[in-house]
Amino acid sequence: MTIDETIPLVLGGPPIQGEVPTDGPLRDGFGRLIKNLRISVTDRCNFRCTYCMPEEGLDWLKREDILSYEEIDRLARIFVSIGVEELRLTGGEPLVRRDLPVLIEKLSPIKGLKSLSLTTNGFSLKQMCADLVAAGLQRINVSMDTPVREKFAHITRRDALPQVLEGLEECEKYPELSPIKVNAVAIRDFSEDDVLAFAELARRKPYIIRWIEFMPLDAEEKWDRTDVLTGAEIRAIIESKYPLEPVSDDRIATAQRFRFVDGTGEVGFINPVSEPFCETCDRVRLTADGQFRTCLFSRWETDLREPLRSGASDAEVEHVIRAAVWRKEMKHHINDPGFQPASRSMSQIGG
Ligand code: SAM
Ligand code: SF4
Repeated sequence: MTIDETIPLVLGGPPIQGEVPTDGPLRDGFGRLIKNLRISVTDRCNFRCTYCMPEEGLDWLKREDILSYEEIDRLARIFVSIGVEELRLTGGEPLVRRDLPVLIEKLSPIKGLKSLSLTTNGFSLKQMCADLVAAGLQRINVSMDTPVREKFAHITRRDALPQVLEGLEECEKYPELSPIKVNAVAIRDFSEDDVLAFAELARRKPYIIRWIEFMPLDAEEKWDRTDVLTGAEIRAIIESKYPLEPVSDDRIATAQRFRFVDGTGEVGFINPVSEPFCETCDRVRLTADGQFRTCLFSRWETDLREPLRSGASDAEVEHVIRAAVWRKEMKHHINDPGFQPASRSMSQIGG
């Protein structure tokens, strides 16, 4: 099948400009190489973070609509065969999906894969860490927005900070799991008081603390620009007590990395709102129901589940992927007038 014949399988989205490459490393129409695939394994979650989900949850996907581990494995192999080097499992909360280590065991030996990682809220890590590592997990990001129990209960709507801290401590037992990153969403009038406490955590523990700017991806669409506490503001608070120096990084990194000048620890800043990094974006995403998204803020998706389930060959699926990637959005438009939110919220996309 040629690209032209597969186009009807590509749902929605802008028209194709120019000629979609049929071989070579996966590349979009702006010349960006795509190396990083985030795979959501579920839209469900045991937390209800205010910046992500409504209190009562969302309408969950039907079980039959969710990709099986075999289907995810097949797609992952196709992606890696055409240039993807990093896979990150996410959700919703990936650890609520049954037998996640089984998926990790399938993915970790894929030839050409350089990194297999997980983003989790950490609630079940203490129980699951050993199995995840044994299955081949290499890196972990644990989301923790505040080290203060009452504030944690408020923002996640779950009184679960002790479990998350225990999960992080469990990770320390496995040298295979490195680095351990802690991600905190920065929200104005909420996060300021935690900045130095997190800096001290990064100095005391083998955790890289990364601050992420609040983005308009909350299901309740309450985001307001004035709620964004920028990475620069957080950095200034840290530097008021602990001077930082940049860490150079050859890889395409979304995070700006800094170490403490006295050499004890590292922090990072992911500033998609105040300092967008779309120009070097190498990421794409697969939702739990097999929809392929070329930008967090996409308003269109490409159905990969349909070709998988209707008997398409790997080459045919590859063509559909290449055609979708070719049309990857030039940038998000958070800072432009008339910005329209993404077609799904963060937990449904896979952050
Ligand atoms: N449940 C897992 C977790 O919380 O780590 C994985 C999925 S969660 C959607 C992935 C990441 O997205 C988390 O670090 C979370 O804090 C972040 N996130 C969710 N909503 C966000 C928003 N509106 N702006 C910025 N980051 C957000
Ligand atoms: Fe769940 Fe993660 Fe969203 Fe919080 S950020 S509600 S833990 S998916």
